[in-house]
Amino acid sequence: MGDTDVTDATFETVVVLGSGTMGAGIAQVAATAGSRAWLVDTSLDRAHEGRDAIDKSLQRLLDKGKIEAEERDRILARVHATEDRDAAVAAADVIVEAVPEKLDLKREIIADVASKAPGTCLLGTNTSSLSIAAIAEGCGAEDRVVGLHFFNPVPIMQLLEIVRGAATSDATVTAARAFGTHVGKESILVKDVPGFATSRLGVLLGLEAMRMVQDGVASAEDVDKAMELGYRHPMGPLKLTDLVGLDVRLAIAEHLHTELGSAAFEPPQLLRDLVAAGKLGRKSGEGFYTY
Ligand code: NAD
Repeated sequence: MGDTDVTDATFETVVVLGSGTMGAGIAQVAATAGSRAWLVDTSLDRAHEGRDAIDKSLQRLLDKGKIEAEERDRILARVHATEDRDAAVAAADVIVEAVPEKLDLKREIIADVASKAPGTCLLGTNTSSLSIAAIAEGCGAEDRVVGLHFFNPVPIMQLLEIVRGAATSDATVTAARAFGTHVGKESILVKDVPGFATSRLGVLLGLEAMRMVQDGVASAEDVDKAMELGYRHPMGPLKLTDLVGLDVRLAIAEHLHTELGSAAFEPPQLLRDLVAAGKLGRKSGEGFYTY
């Protein structure tokens, strides 16, 4: 591991690996903050799709009167799509990987960019469930790897969950906090434990809500209303599950059940049945609600 000081890092150039839902959002907030943002994907076309998504997102902000046309143009001009990962990372101050949630893929990518990026570059992973230490293992710059867990949709959600791996240095945490502030987010600092803080609590609430519907305690609508009106949650746990995707929630619950060993994370039969029936939430037209 190097003894480089990432607190010296500036955020001039941000490289986002994976230009899907999250990657595009992260590039958008970086460009909005004044950084040059590079989107890298498996092909130039895919990287451009990410840039097009940013274009559409900025257009929506413009239509709502939240930004001016000049600002939209300036932000978009700072977003670049490329398939030349090596060239992009060679000049990076911050790298955030937002490729699919597969440990081997993330580990391979972090190891590759760690060897090619400047020694002061912050190496962020947007994983929502994998261990930061496991992703960083063997990359040679474990001290600079940190979880930068953004939320969907990135331009709107205020939270950045910073996850500190076993080898993440103090300087990296400081730089991660500064990066969060730079992109306009409030950050929290969490240990590298399964589910971090957000998934562990959020998934638990969702699973209990499902068990209540399964047991006939109340309807899905009323369970959601209980949290929306009684606890001022902006969205009830079952509506949120429909939004995230029932299959996604099932996979996270299974992972947390295995890792944490608590019966509270055991997926309810209702969730398994709905997923088996292809009722995955909004994306399939039906979940706990019909769309
Ligand atoms: P996505 O499928 O929308 O995007 C992933 C992108 O990565 C795709 O464009 C894909 O082509 C690209 N990709 C695949 N292999 C690549 C490679 N080798 N190099 C570069 N790009 C590659 O996925 P997403 O929803 O944006 O999720 C990305 C990450 O963010 C995952 O780790 C996920 O767990 C995490 N996350 C997702 C959400 C969410 O709500 N979607 C929220 C927080 C965190």
